[in-house]
Amino acid sequence: MPAFSAHRLFAAQALLSTGWAEDVLISVGGDGRIAAVEPGQVPAAGDEATTGPVIPAMSNLHSHAFQRAMAGLAEVAGSGDDSFWTWRETMYRTVGRVDPDDVEAIAAKLYVEMLKGGFGRVVEFHYLHHQADGTPYADPAEMSLRILNAAHATGIGLTHLPVFYAHANFGGVAPNPGQRPFLHDPDRFLALLQRLVPASARVGAELGYAIHSLRAATPGEMRTILGEAPVSGPIHIHVAEQTREVEDCLAWSGRRPVEWLLDEMPVDRRWCAIHATHMTAQETERLAKSGAVAGLCPATEANLGDGIFPATDFLAAGGRFGIGTDSHVATSVAEELRLLEYGQRLRDRRRNRLAAPGASVGRTIFDAALAGGTQAAGLGTAGIQVGARADLVVLDGANPYVAAASGNQILDRWLFALGGEAVRDVMVAGQWKIRNGRHDREEDIDRAFARVLSKLK
Ligand SMILES: [Zn+2]
Repeated sequence: MPAFSAHRLFAAQALLSTGWAEDVLISVGGDGRIAAVEPGQVPAAGDEATTGPVIPAMSNLHSHAFQRAMAGLAEVAGSGDDSFWTWRETMYRTVGRVDPDDVEAIAAKLYVEMLKGGFGRVVEFHYLHHQADGTPYADPAEMSLRILNAAHATGIGLTHLPVFYAHANFGGVAPNPGQRPFLHDPDRFLALLQRLVPASARVGAELGYAIHSLRAATPGEMRTILGEAPVSGPIHIHVAEQTREVEDCLAWSGRRPVEWLLDEMPVDRRWCAIHATHMTAQETERLAKSGAVAGLCPATEANLGDGIFPATDFLAAGGRFGIGTDSHVATSVAEELRLLEYGQRLRDRRRNRLAAPGASVGRTIFDAALAGGTQAAGLGTAGIQVGARADLVVLDGANPYVAAASGNQILDRWLFALGGEAVRDVMVAGQWKIRNGRHDREEDIDRAFARVLSKLK
C-alpha cells in the first residue's frame, strides 16, 4: 500500500476489471492511479462513500473539437441529395471563421460535455492547423497548443493526434481552397510532431499522429511519415467512410480502401481505422485479424448518412472496436453505444445483435469499447484494477432506474433507457472533474463558448 492515498472511495457496487463487485474500497494513490481494490469491505471513517455505482470512464477515440460549434447547423435540407460532401462544405465555412481563441473555447466546452457524458479521455484527430488562407500561425503548433490548453483546463485526459493532410483525392490531387488550413508537406509535419513532443509531455498528454485519409496523402508521403515520425503513440486514419471513397479508391488502385490499407501499410495494434464502414467480408475479417481498432462513431455516421458498420461480422472475427463522437452531434457514451447496437438491429430486423446468447448487450459493448478505446488512445491498461489510471464514473444512485438496478442491469438501464443525465461524478487521473453533474470552471467555459457561437451565427 502507498503511504499516501489521495482518495479512499467506498462503492456499494463497482464494475471491476474482473466483473461486478459489492462493498468495494478503491484506494487512489497520489500519482492518480488505483493503488488497491478491495471488495467486501466496511466503510471506515474518512472514506468517501460514492452516491451510486462506480464504473470505468471511457476513452472517446475520435474527435474534431471545432466541429462541436456547428453541430445542429447543417440540418437544413439543400438540393434533396444532401450527403457527407455537402455537409463538408458547411464544415469548411466554419473552419474559415474560427481563430485559436475560438478553437480553445469550443474545445473546452466540448470536453466538459464529454466528461459529463462519461468519457474520461479524448483522442483529438486534429487537422485544423493554419489560418483560413493557409498561412501558418507565428507558432506553427498554435492550434495544437490550444487543444492541449483546453484539455488541461477541463482535466479530461488527452491523446493528441496532429493530422497529416496534403491532397484533395487519391493520386495526389491538388488540394482545394477550403482545405488550406489543413495542409503540410511531410517535413513540416514531422517538425510539428517534434515540437509537440515536449509540449504534450508537459501537460501529461499522449502523442500519436494521424493520416487524414488515403485521399489526403500519397503512399510515398505516408511511408516517409511512418518511417520518420518521432513518436511511438497511436496511428489513426479515416478509411472507407463513404461509398464514393470506395469507388475513387477502386478507380485509382483497383483495390478498396481497407484492402489497400491492409496490403500496403504495416497495420497492427498501434493503428485505428476510423469508420471502416464499407468493407467486404474479406476486408472485415482481415481488419479484425490485424489487431487494429475500428474507430466507430455511430451518431456522426448516422447524421452524415455514411452507412452501417458490419459490427456483427467484425466481432465474430475477433475484431476490436472503440467509440468516438467525431463531429459531436452527440457527446455521450450512452448515445454512441446505443446507436451502434440499434444500427445493427435496423439492418438485421432483429434484437440484441452484439451480445452472445444470455449476455447483457450493455455490458458486452461497454467492455469492448472500453478495451478498444484504451488501445486506440495509446494507454496500457484501463478499467478498475490496480495500476490503472483512476478514470472513474459514478452513476447517479438517486436516479430511481439506477437505484433499483444491480450488476449488468445498471449498464443496460444507462445505455438503453437513460443517457448523460445518469452520470453524476467523474474522476480523471485521481481528481474529481465533475461533481454532482457540474464542472467547477463551467460558468467561465460557457461564457467563452457563447461568445464564439454568437460570432458564428
Ligand atoms: Zn473524423
